[in-house]
Amino acid sequence: MDTSQLIQLDRRHVWHPCTQEKDHEDFPPIPIARGEGSYLITPEGERIVDAVSSWWVNLFGHNNPRLNRALREQSEKIAHHIFAGFTHEPAVEISRRLVEKAPEGLTRVFFADNGSAAVEVALKMSFQYWQQSGKPGKTRFVSISDAYHGETLGALAVSGCDLYRQIYQPILMQGFQVAGPDCFRCPYGLHRDRCQAECFAPMEQTVAEHHEEIAGVIIEPLIQCAAGMRMYPPVYLEKLRTLCDRYQVHYIADEIAVGFGRTGKLFANEHSGTSPDILCLSKGITGGYLPLSVAMTQDEIYEAFYDDYSSFKAFLHSHSYTGNPLACAVAVEVMNIFEQENILENLKPRMALLDHARQRFEAHPHVGEMRRCGFVTAIEMVADKKDNTPYPWQERRGYQFFRKALAKGALLRPLGNVIYFMPPLNIELDVLENVVEVAWECLNDVT
Ligand SMILES: *Cc1c(COP(=O)(O)O)cnc(C)c1O
Repeated sequence: MDTSQLIQLDRRHVWHPCTQEKDHEDFPPIPIARGEGSYLITPEGERIVDAVSSWWVNLFGHNNPRLNRALREQSEKIAHHIFAGFTHEPAVEISRRLVEKAPEGLTRVFFADNGSAAVEVALKMSFQYWQQSGKPGKTRFVSISDAYHGETLGALAVSGCDLYRQIYQPILMQGFQVAGPDCFRCPYGLHRDRCQAECFAPMEQTVAEHHEEIAGVIIEPLIQCAAGMRMYPPVYLEKLRTLCDRYQVHYIADEIAVGFGRTGKLFANEHSGTSPDILCLSKGITGGYLPLSVAMTQDEIYEAFYDDYSSFKAFLHSHSYTGNPLACAVAVEVMNIFEQENILENLKPRMALLDHARQRFEAHPHVGEMRRCGFVTAIEMVADKKDNTPYPWQERRGYQFFRKALAKGALLRPLGNVIYFMPPLNIELDVLENVVEVAWECLNDVT
């Protein structure tokens, strides 16, 4: 297929995710033929730096020789088999490795095959736990404003991004949504470094008032990625852990985006020294190779489902591709790479490079803030810097930015007015430097 034929057929048959297809009339999808490290490569050989890790999944570059080998070797044994009543070494091994590294107490691994599914598992597991533990009134979940937990109906119900959720409102389960942290526009006027999560008050109040109806609180630790890389301090999570303990409410941590090194530690909860009751992981788990997710939990939850068959306490959730061996084998190799290639230590010079650019960006008349948490960095464009007035969404500055950056060889896909860098963890320093330059030029162009 030549490129024009490919695009023509794509336009005729394919429906792309998270896209107004009409936008493709004057800006068709870009065919990718290959990948190499931090680059996506078109059929014509044009190289595009993947500065968003292909939707936050890629950890160690495209076409990674070690991950390729793990995949190939497993594919020569078996690609997939039923996971009910059967098991395999890659699933057992990745479970063991995750338990070893995850926050304390998370000893059980339940497999699913994408992030939203892991969230569904967490919600159902929490709900069923209380049904079987003498507290059947605990049926609702608490989430925070602008939360993002995926697109399936259960996950959407606990999400707060109206853009994805509003239209489905009539078919979503009802929970509690409380105002979450918003450090950039802090309503308490506090500086990030000095705050004690004063904004935790609405969460505290809701849980205190309604705990008898509340099964769990679900939250994205430290960074609300889809909300525009909103970052907040670990003390919020410490308070949440204490609150959940006090009122017998599950703390469900959605580390689907921030897990696997993005925050500078393997898991974001490590920054606060807290352990959730249920931890959802996906995205980076296979380094961006194959769909896989897990919900990890504690013995106490596992045991509430463990009984004679006739008790009907089993957790009957399943997906056809649960615990896929190819995905698990690649996930094991991801853990090997973290350990053997000093990935987290090597983030330091990369983070320093981004910090170095901060003064310049923050001096820009249309940058409200440049913030970083681990290896996630965001630049918030504003119309007016005096009171951080956002640009109206109708102007689609982020979309303009995306197109301009592509023309300069970088995939940067802003979230509204927020430009961000979330590249593979091992991106070369000079490539990263180049991406920062592209961002600077495009920022000037679109503001
Ligand atoms: C991406 C994401 C999800 C959903 O994962 P999918 O694999 O896209 O279904 C859930 N929660 C967070 C925080 C995410 O970033």
